[in-house]
Amino acid sequence: MEIMPTVFVIEDEEDIAELIKYNLTLEGYNVEVFHTGEAGLKALEARTPDLLLLDLMLPGVDGLEICRRVKDSSFKRQVPIIMVTAKGEEKDVVLGLELGADDYVSKPFSPKVLMARVRAVIRRDKFTPVNDDSVIERAGLFLHKGRHELKINGQLVDLTNSEFQIIYFLAKRPGWVFTRTQIVDAIHGDNYAVTDRSIDFQMVGLRKKLGSIGHLIETVRGVGYRFKELD
Ligand code: CA
Repeated sequence: MEIMPTVFVIEDEEDIAELIKYNLTLEGYNVEVFHTGEAGLKALEARTPDLLLLDLMLPGVDGLEICRRVKDSSFKRQVPIIMVTAKGEEKDVVLGLELGADDYVSKPFSPKVLMARVRAVIRRDKFTPVNDDSVIERAGLFLHKGRHELKINGQLVDLTNSEFQIIYFLAKRPGWVFTRTQIVDAIHGDNYAVTDRSIDFQMVGLRKKLGSIGHLIETVRGVGYRFKELD
């Protein structure tokens, strides 16, 4: 029998914690809920879950601090984190992503959206290796990293080196939101002068070149960009 993943939920609002637990349990996950940051940290010291769902605004030790501690720990840093955020926490979301959190959902969220994110993060965690010959194929889009090639419905599209790096980086993890800084960091090392600001311009150019599938690159206001998740 397959062992289902264990999810730790750190959330002080009891009805939200219950809602999360209910939906995850329905899908067969093992769920443990902690209502304070301290209780969550204590559990994290003892055990390593497959996923951490983390409320940011907690009494005492807050979500960002927990995120920092998990990602600073050589034993726990592999644990994927989805932040559960409230309105007005956009700055904290960016900080959390920079600290290494994998994704976020904003309250109020639909259980469907939450479950899709959970599945995506756990799936990604299992299939991370990407080598230079890797090929990404989805929605009529074909990316070959080794050849630096983008084809749309079989047609070769002429991209600059950094445009290719950007779309490859985003398409590798559909649904994940990346800050401009993360994108810059990811595509550094190929001698292109890329800044946070210039990412916005490059996105405009990239979308144009993608034509009818340009909408696959989504702007997430106040955070950054993501490649649309297709199901
Ligand atoms: Ca809270």
